[in-house]
Amino acid sequence: MAAKHVLSKSTFMAGCQCPKRLYLHKKHPELSNPEDEDLQAIFSRGTTVGLLARELFKGGIDVAPPDPFSYHISVAKTQELIAANHSVIYEAAFMYDGVLCAIDLLVKKRNKWYAYEVKSSTKVKDPFVQDAALQHYVITRSGLPLADISVVHLNNQYKRVGELEVEQLFNAVSVKEPVLSLQDFVEAQIDSFKKVLKSKNIPNILIGDHCKKPYDCNFTNHCGANMLHQRAIGNSNLNKSELKQFLKEWQYPFYFFDFETIMPAIPEFDHSRPYQQIPFQYSLHTQASPRSALNHTAFLGDGVSDPRLPLIKQMLKDLGTEGSIVTWNKSFEVTRIKEMAEDFPRYQKQLSKLIDRIVDLMVPFQKKWYELPSFMGSYSLKYVLPVLVPELSYDSLAIQNGGDASSVYAIIKEQPIAVQMQQRNDLLAYCHLDTLAMVEIYKKLKALVK
Ligand code: SF4
Repeated sequence: MAAKHVLSKSTFMAGCQCPKRLYLHKKHPELSNPEDEDLQAIFSRGTTVGLLARELFKGGIDVAPPDPFSYHISVAKTQELIAANHSVIYEAAFMYDGVLCAIDLLVKKRNKWYAYEVKSSTKVKDPFVQDAALQHYVITRSGLPLADISVVHLNNQYKRVGELEVEQLFNAVSVKEPVLSLQDFVEAQIDSFKKVLKSKNIPNILIGDHCKKPYDCNFTNHCGANMLHQRAIGNSNLNKSELKQFLKEWQYPFYFFDFETIMPAIPEFDHSRPYQQIPFQYSLHTQASPRSALNHTAFLGDGVSDPRLPLIKQMLKDLGTEGSIVTWNKSFEVTRIKEMAEDFPRYQKQLSKLIDRIVDLMVPFQKKWYELPSFMGSYSLKYVLPVLVPELSYDSLAIQNGGDASSVYAIIKEQPIAVQMQQRNDLLAYCHLDTLAMVEIYKKLKALVK
């Protein structure tokens, strides 16, 4: 029977964030928060990016275990392949002194070994160095010297045109220097975590900023850390003159407008970069004059092809050439329009003209010209709307926030037709409510300054 490990890379990292998290993870996993779908999405994105990065070093042998309880098989296979002089190993696994870790890519070049850990982010973040420090410690202590260890991350300056160019898509950054300086720290942490896990008592650690940094802890419900950020209570304020002046500058027709976007880690379409926000949907409520009825139009991509070109064409028609385009947090819409102008230069002139017409309904709340304690100090639409327009609610909708909308759209093409039709309706209903919410909030503000 193979020796079982005491710590892995993920439990080591949990311990570095908070020894109590490590203890609860190992001894009381039942106290964890319910599984988060966003985390699942991050995990599956990481897997896709990891598989693609293997193309940087083709022809490797994958020694990933058949299940998380069979890592001893990966450790043994890794040793066999190293002994047999294989030069590329995917998911090579090592164990030293009860600590297990795997590395995405292990490569032999000119008789020296190089380790690469793939991350689906666009830069080297501090926890990645700590991660790599543990990997370096375990790999070298188990007898394999490393010439270098690198973090491979997505290059957000790479713009796809045609086939994906994997060499351009990724950047490999050596972290050897900081990793070497952390080796004593790693050893000390391992000793201390082993003691924590031997103890019969849960470490007595109070909630604090560390519950969210560098990652959201999954025991926040148990420890009560979710309450940390909900204590802020706002004030009451109404600055009529600022508000009046602000609204006076708007010009009819009013276009209440909102984009939804997806951010594919790996660029799916030409003229897009890793994690570029691709608008796939908008909702638009138009009011031609103070007394005219509200008109609604919408755009929703087909879920398969690049939505931006058809979106641009319809948007330019729908938004006309004059009148204020009302958004919530205008920098989001402005940036998306600028990006589309750059990526589709044929429409640059027309798109740039839209930007001058954009106004931001969030400003009176952000600048606290209008503030109520029940906004809880926030100027997010999700806080302001239920207070000012309680009859409009996202609660009954299948899609209740932008993150859900992105997740649904990202995989809509893989769903059966009946599900696709339902999800398209759900997306339309969600985005429709976003712009209707702005219309109603505008009416409330207008009434305040009458
Ligand atoms: S919620 Fe905070 S205190 Fe509790 S285990 Fe997590 S990081 Fe530690």
